[in-house]
Amino acid sequence: MNGIWTQFGGNLSFVCLAISLWAHFSIQFQRRSARQEKIAFGIVAGAASIGSILLAVEFNPGLYIDLRFSPLALAGMFGGPIAAAFAALMAMAFRFWVGGTAMIDGLIVIAVATGIGLAANFWIRKRSPALMDVALLSLALGAALVLSMATLPTLVHARVLAIIGLPMTVLNCLATVLCGFVLLKTQQWALERSILVTAFSQSPDYLYVKDRNSRFIAVNENMTRLFRFRTTAEMIGLSDFNLMSRPLAEELYYLEQQVIDTGVPLIDSAEKIEGRSLLASKVPLRDRQGRVIGLAGVTRDITERVALDRELRESKNLLSHAMAGMSDGIAMYDSKGFLVFCNDQYRDAFPLSGDARVVGAHISDILRRVAETGERTGIPEGDVDGWIKAAAASLHSNKDEEVQLHNGDWRSIRTRLAEDGMAMAVVSDITATKQAEIALRLSAEQLKSLAETDGLTGIVNRRAFDEAFARETAGSARKNTPFSLLMVDIDRFKAYNDTYGHPAGDQCLRVVSKCLRQSVSRPADIVARYGGEEFVVFLPDTSAKGAMIVAEQFARRLAKENIAHSGSEFLRVTASIGLACATGAVLRTNPNRLLAEADAALYDAKTQGRNRILAYSPTGERHAMKDVG
Ligand code: GH3
Ligand code: MG
Ligand code: MG
Repeated sequence: MNGIWTQFGGNLSFVCLAISLWAHFSIQFQRRSARQEKIAFGIVAGAASIGSILLAVEFNPGLYIDLRFSPLALAGMFGGPIAAAFAALMAMAFRFWVGGTAMIDGLIVIAVATGIGLAANFWIRKRSPALMDVALLSLALGAALVLSMATLPTLVHARVLAIIGLPMTVLNCLATVLCGFVLLKTQQWALERSILVTAFSQSPDYLYVKDRNSRFIAVNENMTRLFRFRTTAEMIGLSDFNLMSRPLAEELYYLEQQVIDTGVPLIDSAEKIEGRSLLASKVPLRDRQGRVIGLAGVTRDITERVALDRELRESKNLLSHAMAGMSDGIAMYDSKGFLVFCNDQYRDAFPLSGDARVVGAHISDILRRVAETGERTGIPEGDVDGWIKAAAASLHSNKDEEVQLHNGDWRSIRTRLAEDGMAMAVVSDITATKQAEIALRLSAEQLKSLAETDGLTGIVNRRAFDEAFARETAGSARKNTPFSLLMVDIDRFKAYNDTYGHPAGDQCLRVVSKCLRQSVSRPADIVARYGGEEFVVFLPDTSAKGAMIVAEQFARRLAKENIAHSGSEFLRVTASIGLACATGAVLRTNPNRLLAEADAALYDAKTQGRNRILAYSPTGERHAMKDVG
């Protein structure tokens, strides 16, 4: 029995050896086509199967056990239809040549074992096989063998299942698991290797491995492109001396020998080859004992990057020249409010807070300096923090501001949102424009007031009176409030002029206008010079009674002035006053009627003896309200 198991060991070893040898040499076949590799695997599996038949062990007289089925199933699973076909055909041909009574059944079992392998191949078609798949293959093979021995006629007749069924099945299963494990590992290593090879050969960088004499052992495809070779193999064994000018090759050789001699890697050294800018790193390559056996190099082509860098530098220079040359101040703030860039003009535009406007400063700190130094007008004294907060928060919005500085200068600040949440501020000195604008506004206001003022008395002139009269009567009509008007004429003024002279007459007019002004109190009341020595007072929202009080007050003030007038029956300057008052519809439809009524009342005051106030009455009888004499 011992001898039989030794023979089994030999058979198992043979099958395992055949599969292991294949595993070893299959790496060679990876360089060839997949079809060639599969054919080769099929042939190896077929040969292993035949070898196992040749090394069959006689278990019982006339009954042999071997491991022929295991390589066939593995060929099906790991090699697919091509490998399976080659292996099965070889095994079948050999079995046919051997002949014998169980030949047909033997051929059938070979086909079944191969078929099980193919089924397993189909099962794992979309993924890499795992150990569990190998175990399942082995179980399926075992089951198929048992089934064949139990059903195929010549095998049933020879009672094969009963006599050698168990060892035959178990040993084939064992061989399948062992050899399957070897193939599995080989596939995994091959995969790892192909990942590495792909990464190496397809890398966009220049990769190479050199021996101690700086000759290429391996190069990637990018290297062959750089030096215009067709295949990587053409470069193996060459050195830099074959590829570039002698001085350059010597320089590189010297550097590489230093790496090899010292074992110190060279990282990111700049090289210039074939007009391209390269960044080379060379690290020593060591064997398992730590001896340096060569070096591995990675060279990165940075030609484009260098060109881009140069372009960027140039445009930056151009930009900073432009910024330095412009009159406006420019500043960029990042999305968090930190100053990332500004030109000198920006700092100079704010003389008191300029030193706080430095790159890295936050807008809140800059604004605080503005507030502390009082550089800007219009900052609320009681709420500096609130102002800083609001101003900082509005940094990231499109806005145009005009601000006045402590020294009266003006700045326009245009803020625009840029990309990435940046804010760009452009500051211009608009002092001259602003001053011109203010001067223009002032002179326009002066002109307007000149046009509306009477030169002699300083009160509203006739033109302005007409405008104000139309406006105020309409207002009172809308509000349905009474509107009163006094028409005042100096008595015997011609005689005054004649007696005291024109300049004295003018002075008298000034005194009268002063008395009139002092007699009205509300802002809406207007005293105007109506013409010559006639004045009008209009009193919005005032009844006839109220107007009378104003008129009386004026008469009293004038009396108090006591301006001597020898040509008057009263011996001092007096005035006659006509009073009219209207409300509602009259004001709306015919405000001028009020003027006519006041004038009529004035006329009556004159005719009734002067120095009196007369109110207009619609009945036509105008009675002296007051004789101020
Ligand atoms: P009455 O009592 O009827 O009003 O007599 P009166 O002399 O005042 O008559 P009238 O109103 O017609 O007189 C107008 C005079 O006022 C004529 C003119 O000499 C004088 N006058 C008009 N405007 C001015 C002025 O700007 N300055 C001076 N000094 N006198 C003026
Ligand atoms: Mg007059
Ligand atoms: Mg007069």
